Amino acid sequence: MQRILPRGEIETLDHTRIPRLRMPERVSVFSDRAARLHSLAGDSPVGGYLTLMAQLAQAQQAALKGYTPPAPEAAVVERAKQHDMPPLPAIGLARDPEWRALLGQLLDEVAGSDDTPAPAVDACAALRKTLDESPAVIEDMASALLAGVAKGEDAAAAPFIMAALQVYWTGMAAALEEKQLPVGSFGLCPCCGSAPVASVVRIGGAHDGYRYLCCPLCSIEWHLERVKCSHCASTKGIAFHHVEGGSDAIKAESCDGCKSYRKILYQEKDLYVEPVADDLASLALDVLMGEEGYVRRSGNPLLWQVGGGD
Ligand SMILES: [Zn+2]
Ligand SMILES: [Zn+2]
Repeated sequence: MQRILPRGEIETLDHTRIPRLRMPERVSVFSDRAARLHSLAGDSPVGGYLTLMAQLAQAQQAALKGYTPPAPEAAVVERAKQHDMPPLPAIGLARDPEWRALLGQLLDEVAGSDDTPAPAVDACAALRKTLDESPAVIEDMASALLAGVAKGEDAAAAPFIMAALQVYWTGMAAALEEKQLPVGSFGLCPCCGSAPVASVVRIGGAHDGYRYLCCPLCSIEWHLERVKCSHCASTKGIAFHHVEGGSDAIKAESCDGCKSYRKILYQEKDLYVEPVADDLASLALDVLMGEEGYVRRSGNPLLWQVGGGD
């Protein structure tokens, strides 16, 4: 007879056999993304945009190097764990104003590069002006982006604001230890509560062969069994799709239960897959999935579409 394990016992098994989390590599998280964006830009119809985002990711790495985040209060982190809540919630956390200095750094770095196209330099200058003159407007935009309710007119500014927030959250998350984090709600980051941008089947070390969902904000990755919907947890009606003639390192995992999909990357097919970069560079797969009637449940932080990136 098959014995069904209650939820707590399953988690205990998970904890002992499979590394539950992959914590961000502070020294390389954004430079790895920059390198990947550069390499994907070559064959891409949106190569110019990927190159611009590569410059932004490089600026993020430099900003993170020089940034010591405010240490999360131990008591707050402990209480969050007791209540199974994310300790650094994307929605609701009081942000240190220092994150806006990070935004200024990113804008100056990208605008100051000879490689940056003129429209992007103008967009950086406009955002820098708003940052200097009306910081409250920037704070409101950040809150709207984190809540997934930003308006379409913010599309040019959104990737830069999200990039600064990523540096801020990733810096804080990297200061935490895995054991301080709760299990959290299904399908959401246990550290900040964001929905994942994509998932990656990792190779090497203790993570070998396991699939991790990737947080677009704090850069933590958390384990999820393979062939399971990352939105509704169904294990039935899961299918995998890919673009004819495209890379076999990326597929869309669809669920017939909730009619949604998320991309899944395979490191054994391409060692350098990177969730934010590969997701951004594979818009043809999103088009395919849309045509097949599946809904994308969460956006990419570096691409804000009209109507918000929910
Ligand atoms: Zn997170
Ligand atoms: Zn589902």
